[in-house]
Amino acid sequence: TKHTIKDYLNGRVEVGSQVTLEGWVRTRRDSKAGFSFLQIHDGSCFDPIQAVAPATLVNYQSEILHLTTHCAVRVVGTLIESQGKGQRFEVQAERVEVVGLVENPDSYPVSAKRHSFEHLRTVAHLRPRTNTFGAVARVRDCLSSAVHRFFHEHGFLWVHTPIITTSDAEGAGAMFRVSTLDLANPPRDDQGDVDFSADFFGKAASLTVSGQLNVEAYCLALSRVYTFGPTFRAENSNTTRHLAEFWMIEPEIAFANLSDDADLAEEFLKFLFQAVLNERPDDMAFFAQHVDKDCITRLEAFVAASFERMEYTDAIKALEKAQAKGEKFEFPVRWGIDLQSEHERYLTESLVGRPVVLMNYPKDIKAFYMRMNDDGRTVAAMDVLAPGIGEIIGGSQREERLDVLDSRLDELGLSKEHYAWYRDLRRYGTVPHAGFGLGFERTIIYATGMANIRDVIPYPRTPGNAEF
Ligand code: ATP
Ligand code: MG
Ligand code: MG
Ligand code: MG
Repeated sequence: TKHTIKDYLNGRVEVGSQVTLEGWVRTRRDSKAGFSFLQIHDGSCFDPIQAVAPATLVNYQSEILHLTTHCAVRVVGTLIESQGKGQRFEVQAERVEVVGLVENPDSYPVSAKRHSFEHLRTVAHLRPRTNTFGAVARVRDCLSSAVHRFFHEHGFLWVHTPIITTSDAEGAGAMFRVSTLDLANPPRDDQGDVDFSADFFGKAASLTVSGQLNVEAYCLALSRVYTFGPTFRAENSNTTRHLAEFWMIEPEIAFANLSDDADLAEEFLKFLFQAVLNERPDDMAFFAQHVDKDCITRLEAFVAASFERMEYTDAIKALEKAQAKGEKFEFPVRWGIDLQSEHERYLTESLVGRPVVLMNYPKDIKAFYMRMNDDGRTVAAMDVLAPGIGEIIGGSQREERLDVLDSRLDELGLSKEHYAWYRDLRRYGTVPHAGFGLGFERTIIYATGMANIRDVIPYPRTPGNAEF
């Protein structure tokens, strides 16, 4: 197999070996002493490797002196110990082949100078070659493999839940419809309006907002399962924390209550962030230097902290107290509200100073499937709030009692027929079970300090935006 630049820089290849580097030029510097220094990267790690090209190479004048940022090259030479500081190894080039030039380097959209993230979003196909987006891609990959490693080490099975579905897991309306209608000749109802109720080959269907209901069925047979895939929300919001298409990690555990769920969430998040610290120190050093100077210390503190568990009702009391003392909230606090990010941040940053698991929310602001508490007005819901970002996890113990679930469905005007298969799970061997959803992009924002969720997913989908 081929070696990567990471292998060379980490000393996995013997000094003195003949090597072939295939990659892209990051920068070129020419020395009067008759050399050019090419920094070459191939995506395998943050740092480039230096190739030293002597002026005696046949194409030195004609080609090497014209290399610009992101030209593709193949360098054949000898791996040597570096004389300069900063790097242990470099390549003494014996041949530099130009594989692909950059046309018009002056107008190249991702030239070596710094570009704004707004500009880079307009060239989402070119931004992976910048330092920042290469680092984001590696951290994203590191986190996604850590997700699978954590669950497999803990005896979970990965279940692939469907994207096209008729279940609305939130009981809310923020779903994208799937349509196979012939729009030139659509079916019409009695009033002559287009009938969208049967848009998926004769049935109504949408893109999933959550795999939870599907994964519950597997949990109630296989005990510990998770799903991890794209989910879709047709919320017309333009925030730095919401996408129309985002990835979610949803574990579900049987014979478990809300406290077990909170324990799992805490252990899982710490595992993910420890993995980034261990496996991507080069990329994290870059984020700390150029994006958010606190990102490494924040992750270290997160991993070391023990999460505060707080009742929703107590959180409201604390927020009301702060409000009475003059803390200004845009959304006034009272029992019954869904917390806004300003409240979440006050709790984690000003009040507690570490991650908070907020538990037992009013039933009226939560979904139908959450387990009713004995007080009759709260449900066994939890959100994990992290300092600096707010909600990253939403979870709950699920209602496992058929009669209670049915009265909730009735109360909310939801159809028992529609949820018949979900109700079956409560009729045949039901057990207490719980789970949560972790927004994958929120996790990446937290790890890297990137400010906008559009910059931690390769191709962001936001209202009106599905280019590339
Ligand atoms: P929020 O209050 O931030 O809108 P939510 O309560 O609507 O989130 P849940 O239904 O609880 O979200 O989803 C579970 C997790 O998925 C959230 O904690 C969050 O990390 C993530 N998430 C939810 N909506 C989005 C979105 N539109 N884009 C990216 N991530 C999201
Ligand atoms: Mg939301
Ligand atoms: Mg929320
Ligand atoms: Mg939530």
